[in-house]
Amino acid sequence: MNEFYHTMNYKKLLVEIYNEVQDLNLKGKTADYIPELSNIDINKFGLSLVTVSGEIFSVGDACEKFSIQSISKVLTLAMVYPKLDEKLWQRVGVEPSGSSFNSLAQLEWENGIPRNPLINAGALVVTDIIRSLYENPVAEILSFLNKITQSASITYNEKMAESEINHSSRNKALAHFMKSFANIESNVFKLIETYCYQCAIEMTCEELAKAFLLFANHGKNIYTNEQLLTLSQAKRINAITQTCGFYDEAGEFAYKVGLPGKSGVGGGIAAVLPGKFSVVVWSPGLNDKGNSSKGMKALELLTTKLGYSIF
Ligand code: GLN
Repeated sequence: MNEFYHTMNYKKLLVEIYNEVQDLNLKGKTADYIPELSNIDINKFGLSLVTVSGEIFSVGDACEKFSIQSISKVLTLAMVYPKLDEKLWQRVGVEPSGSSFNSLAQLEWENGIPRNPLINAGALVVTDIIRSLYENPVAEILSFLNKITQSASITYNEKMAESEINHSSRNKALAHFMKSFANIESNVFKLIETYCYQCAIEMTCEELAKAFLLFANHGKNIYTNEQLLTLSQAKRINAITQTCGFYDEAGEFAYKVGLPGKSGVGGGIAAVLPGKFSVVVWSPGLNDKGNSSKGMKALELLTTKLGYSIF
């Protein structure tokens, strides 16, 4: 790692990145297929980095809540993986899909077994498992998040959830299709409801970076000292986010950033440098693959300036 940044406070690095990215004036569009998301102020931009020893560095709108959307998929995966262990992979694969997050095409060829847990189809299977494990699945997800971040205020945005529930034909199609292969147990409407509430959870960059410390710190929660994932499970979740977290832009993210990471159509990206830190960036302007334009650039600058990635 570049000595300068190794010995420096990360704050200076984040400020530098923040200013450089703002100067580039990158464009992007808010996601409009969920109407409530298109109302978000496109100029928001925040960055937070939390080290495995718990130091927090933030710039910009890092303490404002935003819709975590697909970033939630990694967190629900972290809830079910320790319960099912390797049996989980009978219902969902671990291969990158190379197609968009809500694609239907592969499912038919692959008999209703989604390629990985981070595309919508795979995340729906994970949420289906959460529904069969817990009586109140949404409350359980919120309590997991509040526990791992030592927070009490993490919850969902009701309007956002309803907005997505009312525009979820595609996710319903994915769920119905998988149900025809007996890979979904829940009632499809109930499953979509749970999934939309999960996606409508709002967190700040700081809160989300604290949650992702679990993956940066080899499965051990730094606040409670609990080993919530085995070393192997934490390593494998990082492998999946590295190869599948950005859908058909996973190669680009690996090439330019080189960290396991996950994006969401709310404009957030969470990434980790295992053993060192987790980092979250939020900017709602998305590129044409549905990933935050400024977020991608900010993380590219981060690993470039550090001279360090997982590679
Ligand atoms: N809730 C969104 C959906 O299912 C999440 C997609 C995303 O963030 N990529 O379409």
